[in-house]
Amino acid sequence: MTRTLSIFGATGSVGLSTLDLVRQHRDKYRVVALTANGNAAELAKLAREFEPEIAVVADEAAYPALKAALAGSNIRAAAGADALIEAAKLGADWTMAAIVGCAGLPSTLAAIEGGKTVALANKEALVSAGELMMAAVERSGATLLPVDSEHNAIFQCLAGGRIEQVRKITLTASGGPFRNHSLDQMRAVTPAQAVAHPNWDMGAKISVDSATMMNKGLELIEAHHLFPVGLDRLDIVVHPQSVIHSMVEYVDRSTLAQLGSPDMRIPIASALAWPERLETNSAPLDLARISKLEFEAPDVTRFPALRLARAAAEQGGATPAILNAANEVAVAAFLAGQIGFLDIATVVENTLSGYAPNAPHSLDHLFSIDAATREYAKGLMEKLPHAA
Ligand code: NDP
Repeated sequence: MTRTLSIFGATGSVGLSTLDLVRQHRDKYRVVALTANGNAAELAKLAREFEPEIAVVADEAAYPALKAALAGSNIRAAAGADALIEAAKLGADWTMAAIVGCAGLPSTLAAIEGGKTVALANKEALVSAGELMMAAVERSGATLLPVDSEHNAIFQCLAGGRIEQVRKITLTASGGPFRNHSLDQMRAVTPAQAVAHPNWDMGAKISVDSATMMNKGLELIEAHHLFPVGLDRLDIVVHPQSVIHSMVEYVDRSTLAQLGSPDMRIPIASALAWPERLETNSAPLDLARISKLEFEAPDVTRFPALRLARAAAEQGGATPAILNAANEVAVAAFLAGQIGFLDIATVVENTLSGYAPNAPHSLDHLFSIDAATREYAKGLMEKLPHAA
């Protein structure tokens, strides 16, 4: 049976990996909607290949280019925030939420409210609006499938088990490109060095998050919502080879782990075919060649983002949304060469301690917190000693 699917963030790293799998299994899937932000040329190219009903650019300035590039086809071109929501409401059987940042929240929520299957890569949306999003899942009966390799691993390790019988969930972390750097060395790193991840080929924002280890902090909050075992049962271990993607320990001390090559097409395939399996062209796992799997405790002194994220998860309310929004603007400023690498965690920490709104009670309230946090964090960045 053909499954209909939509991909939000189709031109990004996760979106392209998803489409690569669809390309290999054209008989199983029919694409309904593809979206991007401003990259109209790439989106139009993908749309002409996969022939969705609609192609949407979030950035309205990119609309003329998209419309021109799709002229003569049967694909409807659209632009803007409302068009993204409209695309999410087309009711595809399966939606990939792979927009980067909190910007993906409205379309992800709209897809969830449709009550079908949503594959979630867009971790920032869940971090910011965890309670609202999980309540929407409950209300709509949607199936939320984690795509992040760690959460997908946990999801697989929980299949056949019961969450009440879990003693501990351990998220693995590669440690990023600066795992062995001193603080002094980290102070001088450039955006190009920060986005060069040793194991994974990903978009710029998540690559910087991996380098600061904020990515693992966001994932801790993500896991807290997806697998409600309690924060004290969620642990992080650094595992530089990125072969074990996470582990679940049960009360009898039996630990299940999911292993695979560091290739996002593997967890995406698991979500795409679930509850079946899909053949992929990904590299097989050659443990004899890898020969050694290493583990070490994370260092919260050199990577304070881990401490900040755990504290935000414990505090709950608006705190995770503030952590996320401050991190998004700080990472963007770092990528633009406006602040240093270590300033990212400083900006997040100072934003968290300087700004304390009430817990978000609605999506509008959450967006106002998100917007105010961004302004606050930008104000802090302007006061940094070497801000551009
Ligand atoms: P990329 O930066 O590669 O791609 C982001 C996608 O989102 C692009 O299609 C981009 O469009 C679109 N986009 C960016 N900003 C907006 C916006 N304001 N409104 C609408 N669309 C927007 O990101 P990744 O694919 O690396 O990551 C996507 C999400 O998946 C993130 O939340 C990340 O944390 C998560 N993730 C990623 C993994 C990976 O391996 N890359 C692994 C696990 C999770 P355009 O091309 O036009 O800019």
